[in-house]
Amino acid sequence: MAKQDILSFEIGPFRPPSEAFSLLIRATRNCPWNRCTFCNLYKSSKFEYRPVEEIKRDIDSARRIKDEITSAGPNGLHHALASVYQQPPNEAYRYVALWLYAGGSTAFLQDSNALIMRTPELVEVLKYLKAAFPAISRITSYGRSETADKKSLAELSEIHQAGLTRLHIGLETGYDPLLKYIDKGATAARHISAGKKVVASGIPLSEYVILGLGGKEMRRQHAIETARVLNEISPDFIRARTLTLVEGMPLYRAAQEGTFVRATDEEILEEERLLLENLNCPANFASDHIINLLGEIEGILPGDKAKMLGVIDRYFALSEEERTNYRVGRRAGIYDSLDDLSRPAKRQTVEKIVSRLAGTGGKVAEEIIYDMMKRFI
Ligand code: SF4
Repeated sequence: MAKQDILSFEIGPFRPPSEAFSLLIRATRNCPWNRCTFCNLYKSSKFEYRPVEEIKRDIDSARRIKDEITSAGPNGLHHALASVYQQPPNEAYRYVALWLYAGGSTAFLQDSNALIMRTPELVEVLKYLKAAFPAISRITSYGRSETADKKSLAELSEIHQAGLTRLHIGLETGYDPLLKYIDKGATAARHISAGKKVVASGIPLSEYVILGLGGKEMRRQHAIETARVLNEISPDFIRARTLTLVEGMPLYRAAQEGTFVRATDEEILEEERLLLENLNCPANFASDHIINLLGEIEGILPGDKAKMLGVIDRYFALSEEERTNYRVGRRAGIYDSLDDLSRPAKRQTVEKIVSRLAGTGGKVAEEIIYDMMKRFI
């Protein structure tokens, strides 16, 4: 293939884990807010609004790449996908191959707040994307509560009709003093108003909560107020993430300076217990990120509440030595769930790591655990 014939399109740096196999279309660049103190995703980059024609050209390129790959026909498709994935002419080809391999039915509009697009332009992009890829049945994006709340219900409904079938919003917490502390640019009232409007528009809503965000000091209010706000919104999904701090985040600096005191893994589990106990809305609760200590806390509320609380109880029923082993194994990326403690090969591997990391008394310092978490973000 001559170099000038190689197609490409722009791909942003991030997407939610649940969109790992989606077609990525970069609707805007970076973050228009960029002030949350627990986030460093776009800190060195300026927000840019992309012209609709540019986005449409990207969609055209994605479609032509798809046509090129699938021109091998159904019999040769598997071979074509494998060969493009392993030796792609560029990243765009690799993503399209991966997306086709996964079924080619979902798309994600990047970056951090695609909802900020002027409604007619967002509608135009959604319609164009659907026309280019009729097999796509789910299109999702990130959005901020402030942005969602500024749109009218009619606008959000129009966006839904045009094809947006899920919106991911970073609620983070429902506790006002904590929202202010992390500079989220939203209040609990704003989160509720925006969330309710999105739900009323028919767009399925996924709200993200950050466990541990309140540190030791605010963890109780963080759990209770977050549950209260989520109960009012009643989103379709509640997704838990655990606070992880790395260099470049203002909150990391605060922790280093001692003005923010982080909660331990086990304090965070107690916080999660309080959150679950107080949640009464019918939502799908997911822990779908390796950063969470207990990824098996998943289920449909309120029916599965006892089952999810039971996972936390099971952890606390372990001996201290087993809990340390589990935490290290999970943070090392070896354990997927508590059941892995019963798998001898995994357990012995983790025991060796623990013996290397443990100080006096067989304990592993929290700072070491925090450090191990950094590689997951
Ligand atoms: S709105 Fe999202 S991407 Fe932007 S700074 Fe906050 S957490 Fe980061």
